[in-house]
Amino acid sequence: MSKENSDCLFCKILAGDIPADIVYESDTAIAVRDINPQAPTHVLIIPRRHIATINDIEATDQAIVGSLYSAAREIATAEGIADEGYRAVMNCNAAAGQTVFHIHLHLLGGREMGWPPG
Ligand code: AMP
Ligand code: ZN
Repeated sequence: MSKENSDCLFCKILAGDIPADIVYESDTAIAVRDINPQAPTHVLIIPRRHIATINDIEATDQAIVGSLYSAAREIATAEGIADEGYRAVMNCNAAAGQTVFHIHLHLLGGREMGWPPG
């Protein structure tokens, strides 16, 4: 299913070549704790398919992308932050701060979030 990119950090995590703290796995996605957390809960929800940026999402990827939000709901509930609230955000390209070019939904919670984001 994956169009694996051998230079991609998250493809390496998905392949088990780089260790990560995996908190969720499904047929379409995994979730790992961010190595540099910006909130008490900071989890990255990563599709198994290599998609570089939001701009590269294809029509046939809609179920995969939707599954990232189902994962967010499940993980937020498991982390105990579903009711108080959390943020689910995906950065696209340099101006938004994307540094790993394999899409991932940041799930952030456990503290108050400012708006607008910096
Ligand atoms: P972005 O800047 O939106 O592309 O997010 C990339 C995220 O990946 C950052 O929050 C990094 O802290 C995180 N990250 C980088 N390397 C790892 C790793 N080996 N394991 C877990 N998270 C990582
Ligand atoms: Zn990748």
